[in-house]
Amino acid sequence: MAKVKVAVNGYGTIGKRVADAVRLQDDMEVVGVAKTRPNFEAAMAHDKGYDVYTLADRVNDFKNAGIEAAGTVDDMINSADVVVDCTPGGIGEKNKSLYEKAGVKAIWQGGEDHKLADCSFNADANYSESLGKDFVRVVSCNTTGLCRVISPLDKEFGIKKVRVTLLRRAADPGDIKHGPINAIIPNPITLPSHHGPDVNTILPHIDIATTAVKLPTTLMHMHTLNMEFRDECTAQDVESVLAMQSRVRFVGQGITSTAEIMELARDLDRPRSDMWETCVWDESITMYEDELYFFQAIHQESDVIPENVDAIRAMMEMESDGAKSIAKTNKAMGI
Ligand code: NAD
Repeated sequence: MAKVKVAVNGYGTIGKRVADAVRLQDDMEVVGVAKTRPNFEAAMAHDKGYDVYTLADRVNDFKNAGIEAAGTVDDMINSADVVVDCTPGGIGEKNKSLYEKAGVKAIWQGGEDHKLADCSFNADANYSESLGKDFVRVVSCNTTGLCRVISPLDKEFGIKKVRVTLLRRAADPGDIKHGPINAIIPNPITLPSHHGPDVNTILPHIDIATTAVKLPTTLMHMHTLNMEFRDECTAQDVESVLAMQSRVRFVGQGITSTAEIMELARDLDRPRSDMWETCVWDESITMYEDELYFFQAIHQESDVIPENVDAIRAMMEMESDGAKSIAKTNKAMGI
């Protein structure tokens, strides 16, 4: 069977990882990546063998910087079956008309609103809803991490309500524009935060409320979760369900911080020190007065990457069974 042709529009933190993950799959190929500036990331993409495209008015900038652009973003879109839009939040929306005009399917990221695609995606929770769809949005790193634990626990025990505090990294490690560097910011101050409604774009029936603060760290987000269930269950029952989730990793063995999780990712020889799984401290899983509590950490740069691969498979109807797609993606990436 011919491989599905994937283009990546926006080759930054998420885009470069999506391109590399697609390249590892035997049923899809990268036909090009698009970058606005001819910087080191564009040069690296070129060196890795990707065809690098850019905006029509930037082709000469690329030439002057010694990077031969393969063509314009329009050329790239026209050569693809599906475009994974990884441009900064808000820019992707402006690209929708380009994709419609070219008659190409498109995936957006969590920085865009749900209504842009009208179909939000998490492989574990709602794979089948994206089967054959033209437009899909892979939810944010935080929403992905939450869905991966809420969905299986809801299926098993029936969730009455979820309350979460999100401790958010201030910026990605390579980002020199955002902060804070010496403050803790309630973000947003008005409550609850948007993260709960975002989970509801995947799991509409879940009663969830969230609050969020930004911290001066770049490595990972941390969540403190509190849940109530309809059915009786113990901490051990919860642990058994989470232990079966391929994209949930228990962390222990002296790991007491996000810094040590990143060290583990380096020791695992993960590309770019990526930790694709939601990391749950199994030791923290506690039932107190019939309510569940635990901590989990999210590697914001990478947890959505396998989800993008599965979203491509669902939209292109290459695999109708979500569990099979997840297994295939995991195997190719080494999850
Ligand atoms: P980024 O800034 O690291 O990368 C965006 C890339 O798009 C850059 O290479 C930029 O040059 C390029 N770009 C900008 N305008 C463009 C245009 N008009 N056409 C083509 N390319 C253009 O951003 P990111 O962190 O990778 O975020 C991308 C999306 O993924 C956003 O929706 C974001 O909310 C979402 N997301 C980010 C994270 C994260 O933690 N970084 C996690 C999950 C989801």
